[in-house]
Amino acid sequence: MSEFRELYQEVILDHGKNPRNFREAAEGERTAYGHNPLCGDKIQVHVAMDHGVIENVAFHGQGCAISTASASMMTQTLKGKTLEAAETMFQSFHNLITGTGDPETDLAGLGKLAVFAGVREFPVRVKCATLAWHTFKAALTHSEEPASTE
Ligand code: ZN
Repeated sequence: MSEFRELYQEVILDHGKNPRNFREAAEGERTAYGHNPLCGDKIQVHVAMDHGVIENVAFHGQGCAISTASASMMTQTLKGKTLEAAETMFQSFHNLITGTGDPETDLAGLGKLAVFAGVREFPVRVKCATLAWHTFKAALTHSEEPASTE
């Protein structure tokens, strides 16, 4: 497990410092704001859809290393996925970091996101890790209301 913890820290640090797909919204993208008052994370997620497939997903904003790393890895993972696949991944991801569900099924479907299992040890960080996902969903419905983890 300590090897796993090291990997977790390495990945969080890497993506926290050098977030991928970190940019302002491009023209025609759906965007939503997300806020985690518990920690102060504030992000925007932008999504471009093409016939039910996530053509592009990016984010912008300011947050702690965990919320930034989670958003960064989410954008990498969701690109090219269908909405159904994205929904399933969010469910698995949520199960994984809260320690619910069936770990084997959930881990299998998550790929690199599996490192976030480490969040389970820090329950106050669960909202940091899920903020990007909630905001992604808000962007899809193009809601005017900011997504909040509260
Ligand atoms: Zn945070």
